[in-house]
This record gives sequence, structure tokens and C-alpha cells, in this order.
Amino acid sequence: MKILVINSGSSSIKFQLFSMKENKIMAFGLIEQIGEPTGKIKMGSFHHEEPITKMLHIKNHEQGIEIISSFLIDEKIIKGLDELDGIGHRMVHGGTMRETEFLNDKIIKAIENFSSLAPLHNPPGLAGVKATMSKAPHVPQVAVFDTAFHQTMPQYAYMYALPYELYERLHIRRYGFHGTSHHFVATQAAKELKKPLQKCNFITLHLGNGASIAAIKNGKCVDTSMGLSPLEGLIMGTRSGDIDPAILFYLEREEGLDIKELDTLLNKKSGLKGICGTNDLREIKAKIKDGDEKAKLAFDMFCYRIKKYIGAYFAVLGRVDALVFTGGIGENAVSVRRKICGELKIFGIGINKKQSEKRGVLVHFESKKSAVKLLVVPTNEELAIAKQTQHLIQKTAKRS
Ligand code: ADP
Repeated sequence: MKILVINSGSSSIKFQLFSMKENKIMAFGLIEQIGEPTGKIKMGSFHHEEPITKMLHIKNHEQGIEIISSFLIDEKIIKGLDELDGIGHRMVHGGTMRETEFLNDKIIKAIENFSSLAPLHNPPGLAGVKATMSKAPHVPQVAVFDTAFHQTMPQYAYMYALPYELYERLHIRRYGFHGTSHHFVATQAAKELKKPLQKCNFITLHLGNGASIAAIKNGKCVDTSMGLSPLEGLIMGTRSGDIDPAILFYLEREEGLDIKELDTLLNKKSGLKGICGTNDLREIKAKIKDGDEKAKLAFDMFCYRIKKYIGAYFAVLGRVDALVFTGGIGENAVSVRRKICGELKIFGIGINKKQSEKRGVLVHFESKKSAVKLLVVPTNEELAIAKQTQHLIQKTAKRS
């Protein structure tokens, strides 16, 4: 079975083509700066060691998909997109949809309805869908939502204490994001612990440029740090995470900032970058070594916020089988994991120092006496999307 996974951003398309039977990536690539004077293309396949790179003006997502299709045909991987068994699309906001869904008119309409809640993500996602649909109208196309895994949160966890009619009329509530990743690493962690996921309580930490944490009880999400949008919760690369909303009124009054400027401030100029000038944790660590106090402050703030959420989720879950770290920082930043876990002795957590040095691989790093397992599980959102796409196609084929 050949499944193409498409992840469309506002000016980019990332893709991976999987051979599900052999569990192999046949081709991959990233097209960036779509719509800008010069776009960037980087694509590779299992035929070559080095990916090819090109600079080219790419008008829109449709042309981006055309470039991917031509590449796959030129590389003799497929004869055309219509030969694929399925195409899985990453869709950021699926509102209250709990499941992976076939992309038909009804589902596309539902995604469009949620576009106002994710204006930067859903429209490009749909542009990618429309482009692949016009090139391969008979191939099953599936939407895998970032929000889906979190839709098991109880109402008291997902509501904001705002007038109830705003929830009814405008659907203002917490949705949560990174769901595909939280679900994927929780599934892998359960396998690692040799316990059914339905019996596992986990705190999963997806720490990348975007960062979120989830409380998982008996395999289901019961709380997560992101909310209506991916801005709430942890301190991120350039996003503030939780702040007092009154800061916005204050900035409007004192500095005359308008909504657009406030949006840019909180999403692009805050977080680690806002505190110390860079959102790259590797640079922050280098700056700390050089004695940069703001870099040290950014690092400490980042870890402290995570620690607070972990404490809260211990209270939510009661029993925790494992903390599961993933994402660029979660998988690689040894110092972050050590600092956070080193300050959680109150929960019976202990670290195996040597194991905690490993990075980028599945690893346990709890001490022998630790009451809670500590795991690093590399995430693979594209593979998770491919698997969910395959699962839905096979389940439907069995039924009919
Ligand atoms: P995104 O949310 O954009 O997918 P990633 O999951 O790729 O982000 O994570 C990016 C972050 O991971 C950056 O802050 C980067 O500095 C950090 N990171 C990547 N590799 C390392 C490393 N070896 N050590 C510390 N941090 C790392």
C-alpha cells in the first residue's frame, strides 16, 4: 500500500510517501516560500543519497502539488498520483471532530467552518486537499486532525469561564493541538511498557518550537495545555503561552497596539525569543555558556512552566505511569529533561544520569527506584498520519 502524506502550511508543503508493507519512506520533501518571488524545493527519494534542491517561483499550492507529482513520476516511484492507495492530509483544526475522516464535501465544509479559528492553518491545508483531489480524484483522501485526540477532554477542562453563549454561538472553548504526536508517542510508550494503552496514565510532553503537554488517563486525553489556538500553555519558541489577558488591554491603552500587532507580538515575538533574542535552544545553551543572563532566564522560565504543568497534571491524573518526552527539544535537549525531572523528587521521580544523556532515540532514563518511568519517544507525525489513513481505508474496505 502506497500512502502519500501531505502537510500544507501557509506557504509550504511537506510530503512523505510511504510503502506501508515494507514500512519504508520512498520519497520525501519540503516546498517552501510558495507565492514568494523565489520558492525553495528540497526533495529526495530512496534512489539517491542526497536530496535535490532547487529555487523556483511557485505560484500556489496547486503548482506545489504538481511539482511533487512530477518528481515522483520522474523518479519512477509512481506513474501518477492516481496510482496511490491513499493520501493523508494533516489538518490543524478539526473542531470537535474526534476521528480521522474521509475528505468529502461534508467534511470539507466542516473544516471550512473551523477556518476562522485557525486562519493560518486550515485554508492552506484545504488548498493542499483541493490540489491533490483535482490530480487524483479517485484516490481516497483522508484528513487527520491535530485536535482530534484531545476531544475526549471533559467539559469542565475544555471550557473557558466566559459567558456561556460565546461557547454556544462562536464555539469558544479549548481544543488542544499536536494531538497526532501525543497519541503516537503514548501508543509507543504503552508498547514499551508492555501495557495496553487503555490502562496507561501518561503525561506526554511535545517540546519543539511549538510546545504542549497532555494528561492522558487510561489512554484518553483528559487535559492539554493548548486551547482555542496553539498560543495557550507552555512557553514556546516565539509564542508566549499563558499570560494575563489584561496585558493586552494595557498594551492597547499605553502603546496603542492594534489587534494585528498584538497577534504578532504574542505569536512571533514572544516566548524564548522574546526573552533572549533566539528561539533555538541550541543557541540558548551556547549563550548560557558565555554567561548570557537573559538566555539563562529564558531557559529557567521554559523549564519552570513545564514543571508547573506536570505538577497540575499529577493532580489531574492521580497515578502517572510515565512522563513521555518528544519533539526537537524533548528528544534532544538533555539539559531540559534533566532540569525538569531533577526537580520532581516530590513525585518519587529519579533520573538515571547516564541514560538521560541519550538523544533522539527511544530511551528510558528513570532511576531504578523511580516511582514513575521517564521516556524519550521520537515522534513521527507523518508516519502516524500514514498509519491512520491506512487504517481508515482498510476498515472501510472490510465493511463494504
Ligand atoms: P517544530 O515545532 O518547528 O517542529 P522541532 O520539533 O523541530 O520544532 O524542535 C525545534 C527545537 O528543537 C529548537 O528549539 C531546537 O533548538 C531544538 N533542538 C533540536 N536539536 C537539538 C539539540 N540537539 N539540542 C537541543 N535542542 C535541540
